[in-house]
Amino acid sequence: MTTQSEAAKPPVARFDAVIVGAGMVGTALAGLLAREGMRVALVEAKEAPLHLDDVVGDIPAARVSALTPVSQRLLTHLGAWSAMATVRRVTPYRYMQVWDAEGSGHIHFSADEAGTAVLGHIVENDITLAALNGQVAKLPTVTRLDGARVSALQTTAGGRWLVLDDGRQLQTPLLVAADGARSALRELAGISVAEESMEQEAVVTTVRCEQPHGATARQAFIGGRPLAFLPLTVNGDDRYCSIVWSTTSEHANELTGCAPEALGQALGEAFDHRLGRVVPVDSAYRFPLIQRHAKQYVQPNFALVGDAAHSIHPLAGQGVNLGLMDAAVLAEEVVAAWRRGAPWGSLATLSRYERRRRLDNSAMLGLMKGFKLLFGSHQPVLTLARNVGMSSMNQLVPLKRLVMRQATGERGRLPASCR
Ligand SMILES: Cc1cc2nc3c(=O)[nH]c(=O)nc-3n(C[C@H](O)[C@H](O)[C@H](O)COP(=O)(O)OP(=O)(O)OC[C@H]3O[C@@H](n4cnc5c(N)ncnc54)[C@H](O)[C@@H]3O)c2cc1C
Repeated sequence: MTTQSEAAKPPVARFDAVIVGAGMVGTALAGLLAREGMRVALVEAKEAPLHLDDVVGDIPAARVSALTPVSQRLLTHLGAWSAMATVRRVTPYRYMQVWDAEGSGHIHFSADEAGTAVLGHIVENDITLAALNGQVAKLPTVTRLDGARVSALQTTAGGRWLVLDDGRQLQTPLLVAADGARSALRELAGISVAEESMEQEAVVTTVRCEQPHGATARQAFIGGRPLAFLPLTVNGDDRYCSIVWSTTSEHANELTGCAPEALGQALGEAFDHRLGRVVPVDSAYRFPLIQRHAKQYVQPNFALVGDAAHSIHPLAGQGVNLGLMDAAVLAEEVVAAWRRGAPWGSLATLSRYERRRRLDNSAMLGLMKGFKLLFGSHQPVLTLARNVGMSSMNQLVPLKRLVMRQATGERGRLPASCR
């Protein structure tokens, strides 16, 4: 017989995996697991998922990512890429130009030299997410729980038990935190992070330039403050660029506080007018830049992915690419265990994921710190070394090819979904 209070309690819902955070990384992971038949709950704080019809405006959204060819293959595997391409909001770039605005150092990369069709694509984050949402909505074993946050977390014999702030209870052998750089779930699990402020903020906006972008991603290092003009083609118009300027807080204040004409003027001048006159078509937004790396990615029945595990300076456009790779590797390890009837949330299974991902993520975080030191320095010796180094490297095609393979994500043992 059930008592009155037991009858009032919502039943505990059981899932093969619960993913908290339906950003690009959490949603991709949900898709990868559910395609194999796993029953997945996707818990998201925002009230409703984005749909492609709602996010294709005339002006591109300010938040974009440079997606590597490896990420493109993963999104193709998930069925999302074709939807992104259909709405014509993926802009390929075949060239990359990087220069030191304080010297003569420069380096140019091309897809031909790298032996690939493209170096990557610039895509609005909302487009990628909406396309992933569309695919995940077709998978019958995914349950979306939107407008919900986790309020309590406990370890049980069956794995993890969690209570959402609306009172619903979930139990699962595999709980994944994909809830971004300031992950509340990571904190609830007691995992600490190594945190380092980059003493910079990123100012982002969208501009229309006088000259076409020529399928080229450009980045100038201006006294240690990298300014990127990332190509965007909107309805066939190839004069748009997404701007990311990583700079001091005072400068970010100025840039976000000034009139659009003054912002356009400042961007044009800083960029040596390489694309002619620059006209902002959106407001300028700012984001603090803090590199974080979780001390551990896994516990029994618990894993961190994406920005919840690591957040990185945007100067090399790697953040979401690393996160998508986390999702792909974690899914590969978990599905392999699930298929052979092994405990897919066990520490042994999850540690294989951590071993495969930590080194790659650490290397990239370290590289960004190195870049910042090298390009932030005004010491004459370092300034000379980086200018000579860049220009010399520009002549060395085999070395450039190696760098390009790294930057395009072709590193180490790739999961099958990305090959
Ligand atoms: C200025 C800038 C430029 C960048 N450019 C690039 C680039 O060119 N290329 C690139 O690869 N990366 C880039 N990045 C990094 C990239 O944006 C991030 O790495 C990526 O968005 C992380 O995805 P995620 O899914 O892990 O986390 P998020 O996108 O942060 O998603 C987390 C999700 O969890 C939800 N959530 C949060 N808390 C809770 C909670 N308590 N309960 C439930 N849900 C919750 C959020 O609503 C959100 O939907 C850039 C970053 C910045 C700041």
